[in-house]
Amino acid sequence: MSPPEQPDGAPRGSLSHHAPNGAFRNPWSLDEARFTGLLKWRWNRLRHPLPRDDGARTLRPVPSSVRSPHAAATEIAITWVGHSTLLVQLGSINLLIDPVWSERASPWRSLGPRRLVPPGMSISELPPIDLVLLSHNHYDHLDAWTVRTLATMHPEARWIVPLRLARLVRSFGVRHLGELDWWDEMAMGDTRVGCTPARHFSARTPFDRNRTLWCGFAVANAAGRFFYAGDTGMHPEFARIGERFGPFDVSAIPIGAYEPRWFMHPVHLNPDEAVSAFRALHSYHGLPRDAAMLGVHWGTFRLTDEPVLDPPLVTRDTWARVRLPAENLWILAHGETRVMRR
Ligand code: ZN
Ligand code: ZN
Repeated sequence: MSPPEQPDGAPRGSLSHHAPNGAFRNPWSLDEARFTGLLKWRWNRLRHPLPRDDGARTLRPVPSSVRSPHAAATEIAITWVGHSTLLVQLGSINLLIDPVWSERASPWRSLGPRRLVPPGMSISELPPIDLVLLSHNHYDHLDAWTVRTLATMHPEARWIVPLRLARLVRSFGVRHLGELDWWDEMAMGDTRVGCTPARHFSARTPFDRNRTLWCGFAVANAAGRFFYAGDTGMHPEFARIGERFGPFDVSAIPIGAYEPRWFMHPVHLNPDEAVSAFRALHSYHGLPRDAAMLGVHWGTFRLTDEPVLDPPLVTRDTWARVRLPAENLWILAHGETRVMRR
């Protein structure tokens, strides 16, 4: 399928996320001076350590009610494992999003952000997995141990990753693997998967910045339409994503990792922006009465400066302020399964 026209009619490539050196970039803005910003943020944190935050103590995993082996033909059942890890049971297909089961979101076993709350379900409790989607290579989304374990336990699963990420994932033992560029689509039986733009970056070492692409995903079949934004800052493409792949029944949008704003705003939505993105997604087809937003990317690893419990609190406030139905904002407990029947 051909990509939509660029707003100025230019072919994809000139207003492009493909940088001339073969790496990738965000086409809507010049990338800010991330490295000096990172140093400044870390320096500020050393000089002014964050206050102690016991918020995560109130977060307790709950038993999942995963559909076994699959959801009913008219059901979307979503289980939040924690952070951005989701088990999405879209009718007859079981898909995993950004699976991370390790203790730390880090290349090291004893260094780096540690899990505040255990995974909401054990990796061995998963139903048969048909499809795994990876949005980008950051350690809180792509975990080597988890990928290896899934490749062994679910060897027939198909994996879909953004451009240039297949090599790393294949090296962890994954067999059935496809890469997509933004706006590309792939079919698997009656399920279609679209790769959507996101405003973010990639890196696993100090030397591979933006060498692999980052993205979100739209997934649709007879059971419904699901959207996952990936990690992203605000950008102008949410309306077009909704136009092309919507209307979505459930949209999983990150609500955490947004402070300090001066540094995080190009790469992470804050709750206000997450709600704006949700509304933009539905601006073309109109907002269906039951369309749900699921808040992800919070409550699991402390990556940034906002208090652990702020993302859901602020998102709920914003949601109420713009008068969206409270029941359509899904803030789940770790392990909780929420079902939408159509
Ligand atoms: Zn990221
Ligand atoms: Zn992340």
